Amino acid sequence: MNNNDLANLLYPNITKTIADLEKEFKDRKLWDGSKVTRFAPSPTGRVHMGNLYASFIPEVIARESNGVFILRIEDTDSKRAIANGVELILEDLKHYDYKIDEDPISGGNYGPYIQTKRKEIYHIVAKYLVSIGRAYPCFCKEDELDELRDKQKRRKERIGYYGKYAKCRKLSYEEIKNKIENGESWVLRLKSNGDFNKTIIFNDLVKGRIELPENDIDQVLVKSDGIPPYALAHVCDDHFMRVTTVTRDDSYISSVPFHLELWDACGFKAPEFAHLLPLNIKDGETIRKISKRKDPEAAVSFYHKRGIPVEAVKLYFASIMNSNFEEWFLLNPTKSYKEFHFTFDKMSKSGPIFDLNKLINISKNYLSRLTAKEVYSNLLEWAKEYDKDFYDLIYKYKDYTISILNIEREVEKPRKDFSSYSEIKDYIWYMYDELFFDENFNARYDFIRNNDDMNLIVKEYFNIYYDINDDKDTWFEKMKKACEDFGYSSSVKEYKKDPSKYKGSIIDFSMAIRVGVTSKIATPDLYEILRLLGTNKIIKRVNYIK
Ligand code: GLU
Repeated sequence: MNNNDLANLLYPNITKTIADLEKEFKDRKLWDGSKVTRFAPSPTGRVHMGNLYASFIPEVIARESNGVFILRIEDTDSKRAIANGVELILEDLKHYDYKIDEDPISGGNYGPYIQTKRKEIYHIVAKYLVSIGRAYPCFCKEDELDELRDKQKRRKERIGYYGKYAKCRKLSYEEIKNKIENGESWVLRLKSNGDFNKTIIFNDLVKGRIELPENDIDQVLVKSDGIPPYALAHVCDDHFMRVTTVTRDDSYISSVPFHLELWDACGFKAPEFAHLLPLNIKDGETIRKISKRKDPEAAVSFYHKRGIPVEAVKLYFASIMNSNFEEWFLLNPTKSYKEFHFTFDKMSKSGPIFDLNKLINISKNYLSRLTAKEVYSNLLEWAKEYDKDFYDLIYKYKDYTISILNIEREVEKPRKDFSSYSEIKDYIWYMYDELFFDENFNARYDFIRNNDDMNLIVKEYFNIYYDINDDKDTWFEKMKKACEDFGYSSSVKEYKKDPSKYKGSIIDFSMAIRVGVTSKIATPDLYEILRLLGTNKIIKRVNYIK
């Protein structure tokens, strides 16, 4: 049979050739060592932690090699696609500050970046494969294929359309022409020339050397609706988008022999592959893939709502991506993860287990290192979306809020009170009269009112001893004096020697004052708290303790 005749019969409207595509999508002018990577999700909804992590990796690899990071949408499975799927994915990736060089909305020179818009490209390549005798149409119906499967099962043979079972391989041009003229539907299959008894060896960037049997199955390259399944689509896309490094789920690894056969049949140079282990989660005693359906912490909205900083999530990803990252970060705590050199060989070969507590801990440390101004502006942005009343308040008291956030911050060991923006209000609400004098105020203050000693301490201390202009040392000396005057020991050590001699120690005494003005038993530095509250607020609060 003349393959060109068959190619023209199957794809009569395709006039462009692979050579035309090669010219259209020129080799990228890249620096030596630069990587072109891509994230290629289906548009099935919002990104979740699993694919946010999966996209972090190619983004990092492209950015740090001065390369290109592409977002490509794989929507050939129309059943799973949702209407605004592309926008949602882009929104999430941008929220995480991923640097995307080419995507379906901003475009680029290697598009379209949505697979269903690339049909012509796939058909050009399909036509080429037919023309060189490496692909043929198959007219087998569903029930015939089922029958074949049953027969192979009965005979305990490998399942698939291969070798002697590849019935349509043998069709003549005339037979094919007749079937097409009769309107029979067909799929295009690879004419595999692999040998299952031989092995193929390839190098995976994460897993190293891999040996697998060659592919000998005549897999489907184009479905009857003209849309290619993943294999041909990704070969065409990655080739003409000039992708150098494919990062994808490791469930694709068993298909690599088929994919490599296809890359080779098309005459394209295969890219490097890095098969990534998915983000797992511990579910009781079992370990499974993180799931959007089962795990609330899989949704990115969980982090938005809680106000966990984007950078903290990325620091967490960095720590699971490369085993040596944490050590580096410990030595360089003020640097961005972007300054670390990531490599595939430092990726875990067993699946990373998602650990929310670790992420929270990273977030706590991260937030403690920000300046008060940075925390303020991020908090403001978060509150604008999730806590409007608090937003109004901190917007109104900008400088005051920054000063509150600055207590015990710019010191060698800053406080690590909160791990997210949503927790901050719980730590500072008492500093604002608007929140302090709420409906529970009286109930809180009854505690002091009913405690005679505490009641007296608070009133007397502010009447006689407290002066807002005192520096910290003077303030503390006066506090000690007041303490002794009230029968408390100004030395914890002395108090411990003979507690019966005192009503309590300076710890109890200062606690009374702390509770008196904040109604909390734990706050950051009391001197700073009092100074920031200021005389008016203090007097107003003390006067409520009748
Ligand atoms: N759409 C495929 C998936 O979501 C992409 C695989 C790839 O990155 O090549 O699994």
